[in-house]
Amino acid sequence: MNILVINCGSSSLKFQLIDSDSEQVLAKGLCERIGIDGRLVYQAAGGEKEITEVSMPTHTEAVKLVLDALINPNTGAIKSLEEIDAVGHRVVHGGEEFTTSILIDEEVIQAVESVSDLAPLHNPANLIGIRACQQLMPGVPMAAVFDTAFHQTMPEKAYMYALPYEYYEKYRVRKYGFHGTSHSYVSKRAAEILGKPYESLKTIVCHLGNGASICAVKNGKSIDTSMGLSPLEGLVMGTRSGDVDPSVLEFVAEKENLDMQQVMNVLNKESGVYGISGVSSDFRDIEEAADQGNKRADLAQEMFCYRVAKYVGSYAAAMNGVDAICFTAGVGENSGMIREKICVYLEYLGVKLDEEANKKRGVDLVISSSDAKVKVLMVPTNEELAIARETAGLLK
Ligand code: AMP
Repeated sequence: MNILVINCGSSSLKFQLIDSDSEQVLAKGLCERIGIDGRLVYQAAGGEKEITEVSMPTHTEAVKLVLDALINPNTGAIKSLEEIDAVGHRVVHGGEEFTTSILIDEEVIQAVESVSDLAPLHNPANLIGIRACQQLMPGVPMAAVFDTAFHQTMPEKAYMYALPYEYYEKYRVRKYGFHGTSHSYVSKRAAEILGKPYESLKTIVCHLGNGASICAVKNGKSIDTSMGLSPLEGLVMGTRSGDVDPSVLEFVAEKENLDMQQVMNVLNKESGVYGISGVSSDFRDIEEAADQGNKRADLAQEMFCYRVAKYVGSYAAAMNGVDAICFTAGVGENSGMIREKICVYLEYLGVKLDEEANKKRGVDLVISSSDAKVKVLMVPTNEELAIARETAGLLK
């Protein structure tokens, strides 16, 4: 079955065409600068990457260009659109409504719309992508795969904020968590690699990318995660602050004469390792600057690792133990230095890295030493494949 996986942002659209039987990527790419000018990046399996500057005023034109590229007689991956059996859409926020992926109909679209105020930057863009695909591929089944769904198993004590209860009742203010597709994929893959039943393991997944979150997976279910109502809570990230005392918002707003929206912008876009280092939000730049003696870049790295380690410790407590700790996403898969800095804090749990294995990058691998009590793994995440699997699963 050929599944087109679509991840639609406000001005971008990432796509992959995946054969869900062989799990091969047939073609992939992205549309950037939608509504500004437009650029299509397209690459068929085994082919060269093609970059075309082309006008795409709306997402509908972007999807049209993707479909045209997929059936292009020279470089296309398929002969006709009839070879696309289904579309899997990444949808960021499913609220409390969606605990699993679901086939899209008008009712689902309305339910996604109804929780859009919880993710005003993401859900509207996801919906535009869905509408554009419906328009251009009428009759093709489509699935919504939610970032929040995997975390809907969290118990009340983990997802509630200690605020007046009526905010939950009236507005559903609570922790939702994100990166669920990745946490689910990686924790399952870890069980496979370890040859243990998924339902028997206590796993902590550290998804460390530009956005970063941690998840405690007990017996195959998410029981806690570091992101909250929005993806701002929790770890120090590329440009997001993660946890701060909420009083800081009021204090800074007053001192800098900022309104709430401006303060939120600072927390989302000008903070994290970027805000601390003043160098970059990219961990490679931070590492380079720290190596050259930049003290603030070094501090940013140290703060990032310290926060991750504290969360791992708290989730080991929440699960009354931990069998496996997984590192994934851009930083987690590539930076042995960051993994090592984090794991040093965790020796008390029985974590011990195999130095040679930890030098590797971007492969499925156990990186703890053979005598370590807690297994540490590097597991490259693959959210597109997980979305394709979910979509194919719904159609079976
Ligand atoms: P993601 O959001 O998962 O795509 O991850 C993006 C982040 O991964 C960026 O901050 C990159 O700097 C970081 N990254 C990618 N490769 C490396 C590397 N070799 N070492 C450190 N960080 C990396």
